[in-house]
Amino acid sequence: MPSKILISACLLGRPVRYDGKGKPLQDPLIERWKAEGRLVGFCPEQAGGLPTPRPPAEIEGGMNGQDVLAGRARVLEVTGGDVTAEFVEGGKRAVAFAREQGCGLALFIDGSPSCGSGFIYDGSFSGNRHPGFGVTAALMRQMGIEVFSDRELDRLAARVERAG
Ligand code: SF4
Repeated sequence: MPSKILISACLLGRPVRYDGKGKPLQDPLIERWKAEGRLVGFCPEQAGGLPTPRPPAEIEGGMNGQDVLAGRARVLEVTGGDVTAEFVEGGKRAVAFAREQGCGLALFIDGSPSCGSGFIYDGSFSGNRHPGFGVTAALMRQMGIEVFSDRELDRLAARVERAG
């Protein structure tokens, strides 16, 4: 069986983002992996119980997903709502789903407080980025699932090639 990849559902074009839209990733590699049956879509924020659309959220204080998992930081909506529990639950469900589906690799959209793996926003809702992981991406890594961002398709392709 080919190695499977858990992919942010919004990258498949599913309308699951906070603004009710998708963000389809158009690339021949995606089409090939789809045809090979490798891609399994998942949205941690929806799985954690959040509605769509929903207010944008960021991890507070320039912290990252590891800090949220360790209880040192919260995930807050721009409206002030504390959605930490939903983000952590979504991460746990993503890991469980990846294991159930046999996904040892993940392809996640960058910048998201859940799925980001290269950069996230700093909690000020002013567009400031910093290097770091979202909550689900951090938990995936802790659990041994390799996470690649949508800017690392070539690196993921090389990994898929090795894994078969
Ligand atoms: Fe996309 Fe991940 Fe945000 Fe869901 S949680 S909308 S999959 S970036």
